Amino acid sequence: MIPLAEAQERVLAGCEVLDEITVAVGDARGLVTTETVLAPELVPPFDNTAMDGFAVRSADVADAPVTLGIAGTIPAGVPPDITVEAGQAARIMTGAVIPPGADAVVMVELTETSADGTEVTVAQSVPEGNHIRRAGEDLTVGQTVFGPGEVLTPGHLGVLTSLGMYQVRVRPKARVGVMSTGDELVEGPQALEKGQIRDSNRHTLLALLAESGCEPVDLGSLADDEDEISAGLQAGVEKCDALLTSGGVSMGDYDYVKKVLNEIGDMSWMQVAIKPAKPLAFGLVQGIPVFGLPGNPVSSMVSFELFARPGLRKMMGHPSGSWHRPLVMGLVAEPLRRRSDGKTHFARVRVEYADGHYHARSAGGQGSHQLSAMAAADALAVVPDGEGLDVGDPVSLLILR
Ligand code: AMP
Ligand code: MG
Repeated sequence: MIPLAEAQERVLAGCEVLDEITVAVGDARGLVTTETVLAPELVPPFDNTAMDGFAVRSADVADAPVTLGIAGTIPAGVPPDITVEAGQAARIMTGAVIPPGADAVVMVELTETSADGTEVTVAQSVPEGNHIRRAGEDLTVGQTVFGPGEVLTPGHLGVLTSLGMYQVRVRPKARVGVMSTGDELVEGPQALEKGQIRDSNRHTLLALLAESGCEPVDLGSLADDEDEISAGLQAGVEKCDALLTSGGVSMGDYDYVKKVLNEIGDMSWMQVAIKPAKPLAFGLVQGIPVFGLPGNPVSSMVSFELFARPGLRKMMGHPSGSWHRPLVMGLVAEPLRRRSDGKTHFARVRVEYADGHYHARSAGGQGSHQLSAMAAADALAVVPDGEGLDVGDPVSLLILR
């Protein structure tokens, strides 16, 4: 058996960053930038009012209450056609350009307009610059908006479009094929024959890929047949950036995934000192990373979390500090028992945040076939080799949500 960190290093070393592309802002959410973006213009582009109210000369309202003549109205979206002279105010709407002459805005709540609409009484004095949003206060021309390695969130996309930038250089989503293998697998709601089970891994893995920001490609469910698996893998590497296979990588007589991958790829077969997900195949087929994940449903998901997700995030340009799920310290709220076996166990737990700590409780049955507990889990508790952890013990938690 090899330590987890060593297996993860091998996987990450085989996952190369994808070539950068240009995408439209509408397709860029979650992608990672490759360039420094500099602001080509000012944001806001001009001095404008943060409030509906009256643009005034601050000196005119120093002795408020005071009554001023209304010189006109300035809506948002058009340049002002009036100048505010001494003794005057201009009615102004949020976002509108501050007119020449004015140096402050009084919000409408502090004013009263005369019945004939020609005069306004300002109740309070305001300082110069009051409620004025200055040109360039958010971004100035030539300022760094963000650098390479930035994950584009909805906010970033808003910033880009606020600058008139509708395209951005990024790493693409990884196109990742998923293939399940096994003669026992069936798809569909029909009654199962004795010995059959339903193919759940493929659907789980496709969803995990989508959740991880990849583009999932369904390569179907294949029989334990050497030719079929060989053809499926060949077709997969031609159209994908990476492949995930489920099943057929253990020591069984019909584990043809192993046989075929050995023939067509440069594979490492690892026994990782973890439970679940001890067996892992990883290697390159025509330069494409292939993850041979175990067939047991919980193992398949844990293997995805510990190996495939970090490798795929690296390929998509994420900074190394965020390849892995966040690891936080928490407290054991219910005993997490195990036996000594030389492996690190990843217990499926539910965490609750209270009194400044995460508290972890078992999410249910801990067998590698008991997918319902994995589904209910929002973290994996790292239970080191030994007899387990007791209530109140500190525990490392890999947060999955
Ligand atoms: P294998 O790795 O092929 O030896 O499979 C290990 C266990 O996982 C067996 O009990 C399989 O029936 C089960 N298994 C394999 N593939 C899937 C799948 N796609 N969905 C659900 N269970 C599976
Ligand atoms: Mg099998």
